[in-house]
Amino acid sequence: MIVSWSNMICAYHLLTFRSILCAKTNHRDILTIGILFNGAVSQSEFPLNSTIFSNNMEEDNFLTLSTNIRQLSNDDSFEASKTVCSLLDADEGLVAVFGPPTSPASPLIESIVKNLNVPYILTSWKGTSYDGSETFLNFYPDNERLSKGIAALVQSLEWNGFVIIYETEEGLVRLQEVLKGQSWMRKTNQDFIRIRQLNRGPDYKPFFKHFKNSTETNFILDCKTENILPILQQVRTLGMLDIHFNYFLTSLDAHTVDYSSLDTNANITTIRLFDYKSEEFKNAVFKWSLSQLRTYNKRKELNPYTIKTETVLFHDALLYLIDALNGMPQLPKNEKTSCYGFDSLRDGTELIKAMRNREYLEPLSGPIQFDEHGNRVDFNLHLYNNDEELLATWSGLNGTTTIARNYDETTSAAVSNLIKIKVIVSTRIGEPYLMKVPPKYEGEILEGNDRYEGYSKDLMDQVAEIIGFTYELVLTENNNYGNWDEEKKRWNGLVGDLLDKKAHLAICDLTITHERQQVVDFSMPFMTLGISILHKYPDKRGTDLFAFLEPFDISVWIYSATLYLVVSLILFFIARMTPGDWENPHPCDENPEMLENIWGIKNCHWATLGTIMNQGCDILPKGISSRMALGMWWFFALIITNSYIANLTAFLTKDKMELPIKSAEDLAKQNKIKYGLLRFGSTEAFFKSSNDSIYQRMYMNMKSQRPTVFEKDNADGVQRVCNTKNSLYAFLMESTQIEYAIEKKCKLKQVGNWLDTKSYGIAMPINAPYRGAINKAVLTLQESGNLTKLKKKWWKDVRKGDSCEDVRNKGKDEKEGDLDLAKTTGTFLVLAVGVSIGISIGILEFLWNVRNVSVEEHLSYWEALKNELAFATNIFIYRKKIKSSSAESSTERKSDKIENKSIMQNMLHSANSLMNIN
Ligand code: GLU
Repeated sequence: MIVSWSNMICAYHLLTFRSILCAKTNHRDILTIGILFNGAVSQSEFPLNSTIFSNNMEEDNFLTLSTNIRQLSNDDSFEASKTVCSLLDADEGLVAVFGPPTSPASPLIESIVKNLNVPYILTSWKGTSYDGSETFLNFYPDNERLSKGIAALVQSLEWNGFVIIYETEEGLVRLQEVLKGQSWMRKTNQDFIRIRQLNRGPDYKPFFKHFKNSTETNFILDCKTENILPILQQVRTLGMLDIHFNYFLTSLDAHTVDYSSLDTNANITTIRLFDYKSEEFKNAVFKWSLSQLRTYNKRKELNPYTIKTETVLFHDALLYLIDALNGMPQLPKNEKTSCYGFDSLRDGTELIKAMRNREYLEPLSGPIQFDEHGNRVDFNLHLYNNDEELLATWSGLNGTTTIARNYDETTSAAVSNLIKIKVIVSTRIGEPYLMKVPPKYEGEILEGNDRYEGYSKDLMDQVAEIIGFTYELVLTENNNYGNWDEEKKRWNGLVGDLLDKKAHLAICDLTITHERQQVVDFSMPFMTLGISILHKYPDKRGTDLFAFLEPFDISVWIYSATLYLVVSLILFFIARMTPGDWENPHPCDENPEMLENIWGIKNCHWATLGTIMNQGCDILPKGISSRMALGMWWFFALIITNSYIANLTAFLTKDKMELPIKSAEDLAKQNKIKYGLLRFGSTEAFFKSSNDSIYQRMYMNMKSQRPTVFEKDNADGVQRVCNTKNSLYAFLMESTQIEYAIEKKCKLKQVGNWLDTKSYGIAMPINAPYRGAINKAVLTLQESGNLTKLKKKWWKDVRKGDSCEDVRNKGKDEKEGDLDLAKTTGTFLVLAVGVSIGISIGILEFLWNVRNVSVEEHLSYWEALKNELAFATNIFIYRKKIKSSSAESSTERKSDKIENKSIMQNMLHSANSLMNIN
């Protein structure tokens, strides 16, 4: 079927330029270009009219061109083949055929033209590359190369995972190289490319709803150009078209869609083969407008942005064909061909060869080169964002990607997007990073960010001011920092908020860890720290009566006491055995009737006791063996008493803040002091994944403790350290938090060095375009010293009263080593008890003596008591009369006494010995 408008063109040409044409056609060959369409002729008419008119008007050309346009049936291949044959049969001067966009009839048409050696030119996408035909040329980029180009441009976006959404299987062919992208993804251990087939429209919402609740933010959308807008409009209603989301559209005509109605902050990138802003393109479009005016006698302004890729390729193909035809030394010999005969157009290959070798042409669709099979292998693929800014260009010939924007340009583009929105900043409550502001008066209602204060808020204020955006602080659920919840299979806390697209930024004392960096990005660190131990100075002791016992362990006391008794007994027996200790009781009597041994049990005990008390004794043994035994006891006493004295000083003054542990190793070695840490934080992750045997042991120990030693919040940990008696709990915490805690609670102390080194950073979604801007702002604050000022403000200045440092310095001024009453009470007590016992025994002795006196003097007990009392209390009398009747009877009684010592006398004697009266 001959399309009427082509006739119209000819008629129009003939009418308007009859005289010129008539003059020329006499000397020029007339050739026909066959054009097949299987749909609307659409925009192809613009370059067609314009190029053919220009050629025909060119005086130096030897050719006059005409067109023969046929419409093909889309579904009926047989009908289509008949139409092609009729085209080939109809025209003797047919030089080439422009094939239709790919359709089911394409293979059949291709086989017909191939058999007849007719030059066959295509300008549309084809799922497979040609192989072998010398009469084919496809100006549309080669399928494999295009796929490589798309993959390279996706890669240039540095996404670390994406969803490929395709509408038809054709899309998968186009995206085959992208599917291999796992190799250049940031993480290789997981499946970060998901592939989903789009449902049949027009309702796409259920399909996209699935992604709304996932962590996916990057989508590669391969669909028909006309479906792009309806899809994005529906995606927008789901809230999936904000700054968190990135869309990569694979259609080469995606630029023809008007996205303004979407009013989106999402990052929509499109690819195209040519630059719409170039002068050449604008000139070409202008020429096409003119030709439209000539054709329809009506002004029709063409918008360059509505020009489709195929139109441009059609223009380039015509340009190549006409130039080749005009440049051929001999025109192709046109013989009538027939599908049903075996005639062939002999010079088909010559024309295609001539087209391949065009060198000086400036095609609109960039550089053109074909491989030996007629597939276009050279072309440039440009990546644009929704602000029509060129992001990158991929070259088909050498396969390299050129990033068009420098770092600053990318950053400023991202900032301009950030300024347009209210940035949501996820955060958590935790001193001194973020605290709720207490109302200044009853009933005061604070709103928005005014509800909070702290380091994080101040830092965010300053970052926002530097970049120029407004933001809102939002508290995360359950006050979690952000860790992988094994049960729910998702990240929680601040990290979860970023992944769930609930926030654009996240700030708190959030540690930059390897695991978190797999799923979110961090800004430059704003604080550096390490894990350390928070512990408490030993409690100041109250009244400890037996503090003097502390220098020795209880076992030493028991052994020493036992030895005292045993050595006293040994001395007793040795003294009895050794002759040296049997002495003359009356040294003046040279031949005494009996010898006396003074080493009774009492004296033995007295001698050993005197030595160990460092006091010595007025009686000493004379026998060699007893001296040997007592000498060795002295040696023992020397060491023991001196050790005691040396230790006593240290023990009585040890309230000078001596901590029992000094490092993590000390903690690991003992079991008395329990230690714990914050559950689900980076500190736990450190211990959990550490290869160090000490840290592994510590973690196992912590896990096995009942009740648990883990805490839900750092503040709880600090509280537990404070409240646990005798400093029996230590908390492993980040040094910044420890610094803050010991600033506020003077009895706390950091113990040991950092176990690791890490930093806090502001978190944001991976590859967030505004990352550069945030980094720059943090760096500015760091260089200007503002970060240090902020730390000082929230760690030192904001608290009221003396800082702990002052308190500790004051404490240092006090004289070290002072003993207060509390520690010496026990010694007073021992003295009091000892003296009381002495008094009691003295009274007993006195009463017993009164009894003896009453018997001897034949007085009543009360009378004797009265006399003895009067005598004893008269402090001016130092001599006492022996109140016996005669010296003889007295001597008798005395010897009686010696021989018949009563038990009571022995007792008194012992008491006398004790009082050192022998
Ligand atoms: N800063 C830590 C985190 O981001 C929490 C505190 C800790 O684990 O000690 O997970």
